[in-house]
Amino acid sequence: MTSLDALVDLSRRLGDPALDAALLGEGNTSVRDGDSMTVKASGAVLADAVAGDFVRVALSAATRLVDDPGAGDPEVDAFFSAVAAAEGRRPSVEALLHAVIYAETDAAAIAHAHPTAVNALLCSVRAELLVDGGLFPDQVVVLGARPLLVPYVDPGVALARVVRDLLREHIARHGEPPRVIYLRNHGMFALGASPAEVLGMTRMAQKCARVILGAEAAGGVQFMPPAEVDRIDTRPDEQFRRALLSKEASA
Ligand SMILES: [Zn+2]
Repeated sequence: MTSLDALVDLSRRLGDPALDAALLGEGNTSVRDGDSMTVKASGAVLADAVAGDFVRVALSAATRLVDDPGAGDPEVDAFFSAVAAAEGRRPSVEALLHAVIYAETDAAAIAHAHPTAVNALLCSVRAELLVDGGLFPDQVVVLGARPLLVPYVDPGVALARVVRDLLREHIARHGEPPRVIYLRNHGMFALGASPAEVLGMTRMAQKCARVILGAEAAGGVQFMPPAEVDRIDTRPDEQFRRALLSKEASA
C-alpha cells in the first residue's frame, strides 16, 4: 500500500460512523514525507475520503509562518491560497498544527478527531481525568504514560503556536514528546509511526474515555499506582509490544 493509499484508508476508518470519532467535515489526517506532509484538504469528509482530498504542504514553509509572530489571518490566508494554487485544494485549517507536531516530534502519521466520549470529558470540568494517571496497562502501552492537555485556543495559527510551546515544555520536562495531545473543548491528536497505529490510538482513547465515564458513574476513577504506570511504560516486553503494534499497524 502506498502512503497515500494508507492515508485514505485511515481517513475512511476514522470517519466510519461506528467509530463515532468524526462527522461531516470533522477531523483530519496526515502523513510525513521528508520535509513535506500530505494532509486533508479543507472541507473534505473523512468517511468519503479519496486520494484527491489530500494536498502536499512544505513543513518548513508552514513552520516559518507559525514561528513568525507578525503572521496573522492575512498571512495564513495567503499561504493557504498558495498551496491551493499549486495543489488544487486548500489544506485543512488545522494543517499548521500538523506541521508543528512533525517539526517538534518524530511522528510519521497523525490522526485528529473529535471522538464523542473523549469530547464528553474535554467539554467537562474533569478533562484532567484523561491525562492525570493511568487507568489500565494497555492504555499506557498504546497511548503512553504522559499525554498532553492543551487549553482551548482558536483553531489555526494561534492554536499551532500554543501547541508548539507546550510540546517544547513537555519534551524538556519528560525527555520525550507525548503520544497523544488532548485539546479542551475540541478533540484529540494521535501521533504515531504509521496511519494504522494512529487509528488504533484513537480507538484506545475513545475506550479510555468510556472507561473514565463509567468509573465516574460507579463512584469515581481510581488510577493505577504511578510507579506501576512508569513500569509498564518502560519495561522491555511492553516496549517490544508497542514496537510490534506500530509494525503490525504499518503492514
Ligand atoms: Zn478539530
